[in-house]
Amino acid sequence: MKPEKQNNKRKVCKFCGETKNNFPNSHVIPHFLLKQCFDPEDKHRASVFRGNSQGGKEGLEQKNKKGNDVDNNLLCHECETIFQQWEGPASKVLYTPDGSQRIHKVERKEDIGLTYEVASALDYPTMKLFILSILWRLSVSTISIAKRVNLGPHEKTIKEILLKKAPGADTTYPIVIYKVIYNNEHPFFYSTAFRYRLESRNCVCIFGGGYMFGVSMSNQHKIPDHFLIFRIKSDGSAMIPYRDAMDFPEIKKLIKTPH
Ligand SMILES: [Zn+2]
Repeated sequence: MKPEKQNNKRKVCKFCGETKNNFPNSHVIPHFLLKQCFDPEDKHRASVFRGNSQGGKEGLEQKNKKGNDVDNNLLCHECETIFQQWEGPASKVLYTPDGSQRIHKVERKEDIGLTYEVASALDYPTMKLFILSILWRLSVSTISIAKRVNLGPHEKTIKEILLKKAPGADTTYPIVIYKVIYNNEHPFFYSTAFRYRLESRNCVCIFGGGYMFGVSMSNQHKIPDHFLIFRIKSDGSAMIPYRDAMDFPEIKKLIKTPH
């Protein structure tokens, strides 16, 4: 038997638990949420962009540390395929074929002190499993973009949800999709993830592709009111609030020299 190549070592898949070789380079945050953050002149460096009024990109604000966003210790080839089954449909919900942001936009309202859009006909199981799959990857991975997300005991519970492809009630790990804007209207592109507290509850937010996905680490008895109002509901409806990127200190400190 020939010795295995260095890059073809047998490893334990973090998802199915089987020992295999041929581990692909898995994107911890799916690439379609990151591609607008890459410097066109150096594809290995993630960058911060803010949109301009024509819908294009305006200014490379600050180069991030070397943007190594892949982890080849996470998933075997077969499990990577499972995760990709959620990514394709989710990308079609979030973007038009020309790459513009979309949600199934019906109307824009401001009646509760927040600007939001009303979405309908979202595929609740797919969107929920997709966002939980990013959350789980962030918790399991040790690469730099994942260093501030550790779900503790929730990691095992969320893995079970993904393995069974059973998203459960919309009040179990409720999720809010936000549009992240800059100067009131422009989309803002940057990718990061971190934990935060809301109404004394632990939450995780994932930024990418002009969106932010907020997940509450709560059960049905202690959900923050914000998540009760805005969560993706099992009937496929959701209110999509707008959040200004500058409301987040973690984002604000990246923007040092406005153009
Ligand atoms: Zn596997």
